[in-house]
Amino acid sequence: MKQTNISIFIPHIGCPHRCSFCDQRSISGAAHAPSPQEVTELLDGQAQHLADIGMTAEIAFFGGSFTAIPRGYMTSLLECASAAVERFPGVYTGIRCSTRPDCIDGEVIALLKSCGMTAVELGAQSMSDEVLSANERGHTAEDVRRAASLISESGISLGLQMMTGLYRDSEDAVRLTCREFIGMKPDTVRIYPTVILKDTRLGELFQRGEYRSFGFEQTVDLCAELLREFTTAGIKVIRMGLHASQEVERDMLGGVYHPAFREIVESRIFLNDMKEKLLPMERGGYTIFTDRRNISRAVGQKRCNISALRELGYEVDIKPLDGAYIEVR
Ligand code: SF4
Repeated sequence: MKQTNISIFIPHIGCPHRCSFCDQRSISGAAHAPSPQEVTELLDGQAQHLADIGMTAEIAFFGGSFTAIPRGYMTSLLECASAAVERFPGVYTGIRCSTRPDCIDGEVIALLKSCGMTAVELGAQSMSDEVLSANERGHTAEDVRRAASLISESGISLGLQMMTGLYRDSEDAVRLTCREFIGMKPDTVRIYPTVILKDTRLGELFQRGEYRSFGFEQTVDLCAELLREFTTAGIKVIRMGLHASQEVERDMLGGVYHPAFREIVESRIFLNDMKEKLLPMERGGYTIFTDRRNISRAVGQKRCNISALRELGYEVDIKPLDGAYIEVR
């Protein structure tokens, strides 16, 4: 059965301050904090629809710092979610939330567990203290390690979120973050290239010419490396890039955003693998066979992989072959 998230955005309420990149109103498209009654209505309404289309879902509190919102409000939302899991056991399979690493301690973990929380995602963003401080995160890499280990020890599924191209970021800092994440053994990871939004600290720095973020191609190459590292370590990358959003498109000043970012990254991995096979061979015309489900990744958006190989002297035709990854003939 297919699984999805019913996302409920809790904008900013729990945040002790605003991080350099964040404008939750643009990112989540919602500035309104939902009441428990609204959450119940949403979950009841979605349950029938999910059952009709044969899907299950996790109830996901995203957007702000869930464990830092006023405790009474947090528990009232959790009670609604937990009641929905009980009312629709074949539809809702669990509850997840995202939060800041410095808003996790033993007491809050015990509370989350008692309310049926199944997964907590930490907005770590970087494991470089320099990058964290330059982006006004208000926590350290050590806070991430400590929170991650409390979550894992509790038996709640651990998710980690990272960004690329923040203010004062470097490729080395991104690779360090990747290595440290792998060491913390999360169940899932999300990777977000920085999008520079209006009315944020990064927006100001960008407009003053003091900050540029990473370029698009550089980010695609870097994220291809990250995706391979995490996948090799057995860690699921469940998201790459912000969800397609009119608000983000309207408010972005710079940085890296593409509604099909993950596909572009997967296609770059395919290009790299095709190059590895072809470069030791003489330049010329070849047919590459790959499984049908890989064809669009192999060809790339607007046939970009075919063009890239042509520039290297390889005229490539891609054809389907069941079960093949890259077979050159
Ligand atoms: S903690 Fe998260 S939601 Fe809050 S300001 Fe920072 S990035 Fe935004």
